[in-house]
Order: sequence, then structure tokens, then C-alpha cells
Amino acid sequence: MSLAREKERLIQELKAIGAIRSKPVEEAFRRVARELFLPEHLRMYAYMDTPLPIGSGQTISAPHMVCLMNEELRLEVGHKVLEVGAGSGYHACTIAEIVAPIDIDRSLWGHVWTLEIVEELADYARCNVEKAGYRDRVTVVHGDGSRGLPEYAPFDRILVTAAAPDIPHPLIEQLKPGGILLVPVGRPYSTQILVKVEKKADGRITRKNLLDVIFVPLRGEYGW
Ligand code: SAH
Repeated sequence: MSLAREKERLIQELKAIGAIRSKPVEEAFRRVARELFLPEHLRMYAYMDTPLPIGSGQTISAPHMVCLMNEELRLEVGHKVLEVGAGSGYHACTIAEIVAPIDIDRSLWGHVWTLEIVEELADYARCNVEKAGYRDRVTVVHGDGSRGLPEYAPFDRILVTAAAPDIPHPLIEQLKPGGILLVPVGRPYSTQILVKVEKKADGRITRKNLLDVIFVPLRGEYGW
């Protein structure tokens, strides 16, 4: 089967299991070529719903996790988004499709900053982002994302794609009122809980446990 057909089949599957629930998340998944973010010998598996190795002991997240997180983030055109854990750069580009769609005026575009602690992966992600055509909408930064990115804060949305011992407080501080933060919390190499933090308009913080997940460990100052 061609990758295009496999992708359409996977989209139907992701809708059936409830990982895709809205048109923008579906279209973003359709538009970003996941194969471009994989090492060459793994490209044929691009549309299997599984994480895959990308080097340095790290993985690109499974499609259902990317879509599910994008749904929970309630992304909107114009949002400023911070991702901690660029990995391949794939997830950041699916977000850029929603916050900065190519067919609207650039002045309305949001932006995605994605942080990666492993230098080789930051280079890999940057290269993938360029190849896939997102260089104006996604900025890859090499550094410890557990401290956030104060230079560009505050953000409308923040997501962490590695498991933290607890919610890193700089990320809560760098969230705008009305903002949403998603972060997997729990021990490395076991199941963790995906936590959704919302900062209400009055600055009040709410915390909700969404579901069990498995992510690679978050490193750095507020990591393991
Ligand atoms: N979102 C990625 C997959 C993330 S895997 C994708 O779309 O492909 C998690 C990544 O987080 C790994 O690449 C790991 O090196 C990185 N990471 C771990 N701790 C980090 C930290 N403190 N700051 C930035 N990146 C970190």
C-alpha cells in the first residue's frame, strides 16, 4: 500500500479511537509528511501508530499521542506555542499547521518554539523542519527546556513531550492567563500521567489528570 493510502487509513483509525476529534487536528496530521522526520530506513513505517527511534536513544511520538495532545491543547490561529522536547521536529510542525496555516495572511500567524537538549537532535529537528517547509513557523532551540524559554514568554500553549518528576514551575510562570500546559508526570521507563494545567483568566491554576502515557524522561534542571 502507498504511504498516502496508509496515512488515510490511519486517520480513520485515529478518528475511531477518538485521538482525532476535530477538523483542524485531522488536517494538520494530513498535511505534515511524518516520513520526512524519520531516518530513511524507517520511512515505510511512517503511518503505523507507533513511536519510532530517531537516534540518541530518543523516539518520535506515536501519531495517536500527537493528535490527542493537539486536541487537548485547543490550538487556535495566532497562538504562541512552546514545545519542550523537539526530537524529530514533527510534532512542532503539526502544531504550526494549526496556529500558522500557510493560506492565511502571515501577519496573523502564530509561532512554535521547540526546545531540544541533545545538540545532534536539535540539528536533526532543524534540518527536518526546513525540509518539510516550516522554517518560518517553527524555531528549534538547543537548550534545557525544563526551564522554559523566558526570552519569548509568555506562551498561549506549552507542551512537554518527555516525562517530568513534577510540573516544572517555570513553565507555569511562562503561561499566559487563559493558557494550557500539557506535561507527562511520573517515573522514567514506567507509565506516567499526562497532566493538563490551565491558567485561568484571573491567574488561578487548575490541574487535571488526563490519561496514562509513556514518554522518555525529561532531563535538565527540572527533569530527572
Ligand atoms: N516531540 C518529538 C518527540 C519527543 S521525544 C517529536 O515530534 O519527534 C522527547 C525529546 O525530549 C527527546 O528528543 C529528548 O532529547 C528531549 N528532552 C529531554 N529533556 C529535555 C529538556 N530538558 N529540554 C529539551 N529537550 C529535552
